Amino acid sequence: METEAITDLVGRGNREGAGLFRDWFTELDETASGGGQAAYVFVMGSINEVLKTFDLPVVFPEINSLQTAVRRVAHEYLDEAEDYGYSPDICGYVKADVATQLRGGEHPMGQIPPPALSVLTNACNTYIKWAEIWERMYDCPTFTLDVPGTRQAGGQTWPGDADFEADRKYVEVQLNELINVCEAVTGRKFDIDKFREVLGYANTMSRSWNRILELNAARPALFNALTDGTIFLGVANGFRGTAEGARYFERLVEEMEYKAANGIGTAIDEQYRLLFVGVPCYPIFRRFNELFTDWGGTFVNSTYLWFASGGTNRGFEYDLADPIASLAEGVLVSVRDAMDAMFHQNEVLVDMAEEFGADGVIYHPIKSCRTVSTGLADGRRSLAKERDIPTLFIESDMMDRRVVSEAQMKNRIDAFFEGLASRRQQALAGSKG
Ligand code: SF4
Repeated sequence: METEAITDLVGRGNREGAGLFRDWFTELDETASGGGQAAYVFVMGSINEVLKTFDLPVVFPEINSLQTAVRRVAHEYLDEAEDYGYSPDICGYVKADVATQLRGGEHPMGQIPPPALSVLTNACNTYIKWAEIWERMYDCPTFTLDVPGTRQAGGQTWPGDADFEADRKYVEVQLNELINVCEAVTGRKFDIDKFREVLGYANTMSRSWNRILELNAARPALFNALTDGTIFLGVANGFRGTAEGARYFERLVEEMEYKAANGIGTAIDEQYRLLFVGVPCYPIFRRFNELFTDWGGTFVNSTYLWFASGGTNRGFEYDLADPIASLAEGVLVSVRDAMDAMFHQNEVLVDMAEEFGADGVIYHPIKSCRTVSTGLADGRRSLAKERDIPTLFIESDMMDRRVVSEAQMKNRIDAFFEGLASRRQQALAGSKG
C-alpha cells in the first residue's frame, strides 16, 4: 500500500459512507421527480435481495425519520403529524414519516417518492400499523413477511432441526409470494441469475460487517459504535445486495484491519469501553456522544448495530446454488437475531461484555419505541445478577426533543463515570495490597 493511500485510509469509511448516502437520496429524488417506482421497507428484514433484483429503489422510512432528528427539524414534522391527529406517545419515526407524506415527500435530504409497494416483517408490531397508513394513502400493495422468532431465550433451533426446517419452508413459501407481487407491480419477470448476483453482493457485505464488528474488540477500539457505527449501518441497509455496498464494506474492512494493525483508535484517548443498548438520542446526537467521550468513554459495540442491521452481524452467507431456500434460511437466522438483540439481549450482552472487555453498559430506553425499550429495566437487573459490570439507565427519545433533557442526562452520566473511576482506583489499590 502506498504512503499516500495510507494517509487517505483512516476515516475513509466515514467519508465514503456520507457520499453513498447522498447518492442514495439523489436516486430517490430523481425517482420522485421522474414518477418512477420505489419500495418502502424496514431495517429489520428489508428483503433488499429480492427488491434489488427488480431494480427497485428502496426507501427506509425509519432512516428518513431519524435524519430529520439529526438535522434538527424533527419537531416540525412531529408537530404536523400530531396536528393531523396522531398521538404524542406513538413511535416518532411513524409521525415524521406521516408528515413527510403529507408534505408530498418533502424531506431535508431531497424528495422521497411514494411507495409502489411496501414490504415489512413482524420484527416490530408498529411496522404493521405503519404500512397500513401507506395502504390508505396510496392504495399500494403491502407484503407482510411473517418470520418465526425465538420461542424462548437460548432456545433457538438451527439448520437440520425439524422445527428450523419447518420454519424455513414457511419463510420460503412467503418469499415466492413476494416475488410474484414484485412481478405484478413492476411488470418484469424474476431473473434468477441477477438474483444470484445480488445475493453474492449481500454475502460480501455480511461477511465484512461481521469482521468489522469483531475487529472493534481491539484496544483502543477502531471506531465508535454509536457515531461511526450509524454511518456504516446506513450503508448496510440502503446498499445491501448492490455492487457499491459490497465494495464499500470490503474497503471498510481494509481500513479497520489497517487501524488494528497500527493501534489507531478513535479521535479520543480511550479510558472506558462501553456497550450501548437501545436506540441513540438523535435530536442531540453529537452532544449525546460527547457526554461520554468527554470522559474518555468509547462505545465499542451496541445491540443497535445488530438489530438495526437486520441481523447482518451474524455474517450469514447465502448458498448461490439454492438461492431462494438459502434466502429463507438467511432471513430466518438474521431477522431472528435482530429480534433477539431487542428481546433477549442479555445473552448477547454477557458475551459482548466479555469479548469486548467492556467497563460499563449504557441502557437508553426511549419514549417513542416500546419495541426496543420495554423490558430494558428487567434486562438490566438480570445482567447485574450475571455479571459484575456497572450499568447506567438514562431515558430520552430518538426523535422528540421535548423529552430530551441534556442537563439531567449529563448529571447522571457524570456520576456514572465518577463511579467507574473510583471502582478502578479501588481495584488498583486492591491489587497492590
Ligand atoms: S416502534 Fe421502535 S422498532 Fe418499531 S418502528 Fe418505531 S422505532 Fe422502529
